[in-house]
Amino acid sequence: MSQLDLASLVRNIPDFPQPGIQFKDITTLIGNGPAFQQVIDSLVDRYSGMQLDAIVGVESRGFIFGAPLALRLGLGLVPVRKPGKLPADTFQIEYSLEYGTNKLEIHRDALNAGARVVVVDDLLATGGTIEATAKLVEQAGGSIVEMAFVIELAFLNGREKLAPHSVFSLIQY
Ligand code: AMP
Repeated sequence: MSQLDLASLVRNIPDFPQPGIQFKDITTLIGNGPAFQQVIDSLVDRYSGMQLDAIVGVESRGFIFGAPLALRLGLGLVPVRKPGKLPADTFQIEYSLEYGTNKLEIHRDALNAGARVVVVDDLLATGGTIEATAKLVEQAGGSIVEMAFVIELAFLNGREKLAPHSVFSLIQY
């Protein structure tokens, strides 16, 4: 089957959620069945055969892509969530945003020691969110094989910030 141009299905929303930010809206991508399927197929192609133990999805758009990837690979999905959402004992991390700070949590018992995981989010911007996620995964005993994104805003150099972690993305701007 011919490949769709995924980038053309991402909608650009200027000045959302604040002036100067061009928001990459994935609802137009995931609302297109063959395009959504192509995204997941591409991730499955990359990660089948890598002997992973789990997929880690970052709230909330990371779940949209992480869940079907985990399902197709026959793996469990481990959610990294905003504070107060996970009911059992958690590790928590606070990290800086452009303005202010944010917190994320993972269940302490979510991963087996040495578990090989891929962390998934919809978009890599500065890398702060996924860097914090990586620290949580490592605190919980996991080992990160790769960080996977549907979209990478390459001009923000998040990839360099995340080195030596391996970064994979399907669409680059
Ligand atoms: P960062 O921590 O800077 O890499 O930001 C990544 C997180 O913020 C991801 O979870 C994205 O969903 C969201 N995000 C950041 N910038 C954008 C953008 N321009 N369009 C859509 N989502 C964004």
